[in-house]
Amino acid sequence: MVPSWMKSIIAWLSALLCILALGCWAWSYIPPHLHVVSHRGHLLLISVADDSQLATYTDPQAALIMMSQYGDVYEHFLGFAHVSGTFGTAGGYQILAIPYWFPVILTAIGPIMVLRSRRRMRRRKLAGKCPGCGYDLRGTPDRCPECGWTAPRPAAEPLGSRTS
Ligand SMILES: [Zn+2]
Repeated sequence: MVPSWMKSIIAWLSALLCILALGCWAWSYIPPHLHVVSHRGHLLLISVADDSQLATYTDPQAALIMMSQYGDVYEHFLGFAHVSGTFGTAGGYQILAIPYWFPVILTAIGPIMVLRSRRRMRRRKLAGKCPGCGYDLRGTPDRCPECGWTAPRPAAEPLGSRTS
């Protein structure tokens, strides 16, 4: 029989390796010369065929932004875009444009859910209800008969603090 603490360690190690493998998997698709440019509300991921030629331009950053504006093929949806084309001596290029609203909304979901949950629990507690399920706790303030929630015990008084 495997102890539960060992199962827990194995599960966390497995989760860590899983995330590592996912990262390597995604990394394997990243082109060798990827430029990341922030431009007008978009994150531009730009892959250029002849990357060494990019350095010959007086302003490589401006050249990369121009590529995003003069692509041969232009598909877009809600600010997402795929642009490809050829640019001077740098040759062919591919651009993936990601609008900033997307990562903002994606990363805001978690904190908003946590804040809403905390606010709901605080409201329930103030109203004399179970913070977990909202059951009326006027009869049993220390324990919820509905979901099993128990009130946190007050911190023990340090020894010798009593005067009488
Ligand atoms: Zn409850």
